[in-house]
Amino acid sequence: MNVVITEFEAKLENTRVILKNIAQEFSPAVFASSLAAEDMVLTDLILREKLNIGIFSLETGRLHTETLGMLDKVKATYGTEIVLYKPEASAVEAYVAQHGLNAFYDSVDRRKECCRIRKVEPLNRALAGNKAWVTGQRRAQAATRTELAVQEDDVAHGMQKFNPLADWSEEDVWHYIRSNNVPYNPLHDKGYPSIGCEPCTRAIQPGEDVRAGRWWWENPESKECGLHVVDGKLVRINKQAEKIGNQ
Ligand code: SF4
Repeated sequence: MNVVITEFEAKLENTRVILKNIAQEFSPAVFASSLAAEDMVLTDLILREKLNIGIFSLETGRLHTETLGMLDKVKATYGTEIVLYKPEASAVEAYVAQHGLNAFYDSVDRRKECCRIRKVEPLNRALAGNKAWVTGQRRAQAATRTELAVQEDDVAHGMQKFNPLADWSEEDVWHYIRSNNVPYNPLHDKGYPSIGCEPCTRAIQPGEDVRAGRWWWENPESKECGLHVVDGKLVRINKQAEKIGNQ
C-alpha cells in the first residue's frame, strides 16, 4: 500500500483535531454515516475518542444485507448503536402505488423522486436542530468533490458542514482500516468501491471508474442523490471534471 507514514500521521492528527473541535465548538453535531469505508474511519475516530458527535445512517429500505450487517458490527465493536432515519412510510407507499417499486429505472426524475423520499427528506429530519454535520467525503473520490473544503457553510441546512477526510486518499482510508482493525462492509472486497442502495449499485470491473457502479444506467451528469448541496445548489459534474473522476 502506497502510504507515506509521516504524511499519513500528519493527516490523521489533523483529522483528530478537526473532530475534537467540532465536538467542542459546534455541539450539537452529527455524523451522517453511509457505513462505507470512509465513514467507518470516522466512526472509529469518533467512538474510540468518545467524542460528543452523534452518528446516524439513512436506512432507505433498499440497502444491501451486507450494509445493514454493519450496524451489528458497529454495535459489537464499539458498543454503540447507530441511529437510523427511515423514509416516511406514507410517501414510500404513495410512490410505489403510483409508479411501481423500481420506478427509479424509468427516468432521472423518478429516480430523483425516490432519492428525495428515501434519502433527502430523512436527512433533513436527521440534521434538524444541529449546529454542524460531518461527512466522509474526500476530494479524490469524485469529480464533484475536487474542490471540497474541510469546512463549508451549508446554507441549505443552515449549519456548518465538515469533511474531515477531504484530503485523504483511498490508500489512507484502507491503511487506517487495516492498521486499526476497523470493521468494514464486505461488499468492498467484492468490487463495490462505492455502495448505495442495492438496486442502484453494482460491482465494477477493474479499470472502471469507482463511481461507475452507482446509477449505472444514467448519464454521469445526472448522478446526484440530493444529499450534498454547495452554495445552495446540488453539486454537478462538469465535462472536464467528469474526466478526472467521479462523485
Ligand atoms: S439510490 Fe435508488 S433505491 Fe435508493 S433512494 Fe435513490 S433511487 Fe431510491
